[in-house]
Amino acid sequence: MKPAGFLCKIDKLGRIVVPKPLRTKYDLNIDDTIELFTDDESIILKKYKESCIFCGSDENLVSYEGKAVCKSCVAKLSKI
Ligand SMILES: [Zn+2]
Repeated sequence: MKPAGFLCKIDKLGRIVVPKPLRTKYDLNIDDTIELFTDDESIILKKYKESCIFCGSDENLVSYEGKAVCKSCVAKLSKI
């Protein structure tokens, strides 16, 4: 992990503004969902991409009981 070259202040509601160059670089747009990851010392922001709960693929997804499953895993599950 390397510094992005920006310092941001947290406002009184706990919000930060992601600088425009970073939003552009990482294709972050209004109403996109951001997923937060943490370790002992860091918070990492990533654009949320829905993915299969079994294999992690983000292609050919269908929804089942509110969960995303790819068609490949659906085919595998149907053989069980
Ligand atoms: Zn899958």
